[in-house]
Amino acid sequence: MSVAGYTLGGGLSWFGRRYGFAADAVRAFDVVRADGEPATVTAESDPELFWALRGGGGDFAVVTAVEFELFPAPALYGGRVAWPAHRAREVFDAYRELTAEAPDELALWFGRVNLPNLPPMVTIDAAFLGEEQKGRALLDRLGKIDDVLRDTRGPLAVADLGSITAEPVDPTPGRSRSELLTGLDDEVADLVLDAPLAPLAVAQVRHLGGALAASWPNAGPSGPVAEPYLLYLLGPAFTPELAEAAGERLRWFAGQLGERASGRKPYTLLGYGERASAAFPAPVLERLRAIKRARDPHGVLRANYPVLA
Ligand SMILES: Cc1cc2nc3c(=O)[nH]c(=O)nc-3n(C[C@H](O)[C@H](O)[C@H](O)COP(=O)(O)OP(=O)(O)OC[C@H]3O[C@@H](n4cnc5c(N)ncnc54)[C@H](O)[C@@H]3O)c2cc1C
Repeated sequence: MSVAGYTLGGGLSWFGRRYGFAADAVRAFDVVRADGEPATVTAESDPELFWALRGGGGDFAVVTAVEFELFPAPALYGGRVAWPAHRAREVFDAYRELTAEAPDELALWFGRVNLPNLPPMVTIDAAFLGEEQKGRALLDRLGKIDDVLRDTRGPLAVADLGSITAEPVDPTPGRSRSELLTGLDDEVADLVLDAPLAPLAVAQVRHLGGALAASWPNAGPSGPVAEPYLLYLLGPAFTPELAEAAGERLRWFAGQLGERASGRKPYTLLGYGERASAAFPAPVLERLRAIKRARDPHGVLRANYPVLA
């Protein structure tokens, strides 16, 4: 995954609750514009293009460098705790309690994981922007749930953040779907915990809120996101048949959510068959489309999820 594609689409990181979208921390882009001219784009030099680049996707210019605002991270703590599936309800209840009170420095993801050759399990992934002692105290509740299979929590270097979820680093074919959730009530809990998951491998709930929900005066197209949680579903797609079966189950899950899914989803987490219009409120989409028409009238550049489609 490249920094450019992630940032141009907004970029939802472990520290979004504290610092917002990755794109909101951009100070300047070096680009080649659709007319072939190089430029350094900042809020002062070209406010419209700068705004569109900070979350509107890859439709607006070819980015050759990005300058970011830096934030202090003197200490990081986090990791994954895993339990067998029969502890799912307790773990999910703890997740709801912890996220109801979590400071913005703490990011928590719940996962129901069904991997081949492994017994079904549930996980909590945590990343805390602070000292180990405080992180441990905040997650004390997890220690009261028995049968822990694995606990990787500990102090982390920034470079270790990717190890929390142990995602594959080589390309792996998959089908995914994300839905922003208006809440995490018992019906959502029943669906996430009890609904048949196969052929999907992961049903994950990510806690949002904090700075992601704030109306920054200079925010890009990604925010604010009022929904407090995101559901992320993932299935393998090694063959066309598996891809089709995963797609079917993704649609079924989304259908079961009803009004608990707002219908919107972050641009970077759009999936197969979805459109950019699902990522932006109508006025934001209209502004992006107007910028696209003005800056790339001949359609020289094409994003993976084009704003004009
Ligand atoms: C395992 C995995 C985990 C992920 N986790 C997260 C997550 O936690 N949070 C999150 O927000 N997203 C996440 N994503 C999604 C990821 O951010 C998006 O798929 C993103 O679009 C990847 O960017 P890319 O450049 O690698 O991909 P590409 O498909 O190459 O690019 C994506 C878009 O950006 C454009 N683009 C790329 N580089 C440039 C450039 N230099 N100039 C102009 N346009 C460019 C492309 O044209 C395309 O339109 C995850 C993806 C995977 C596979």
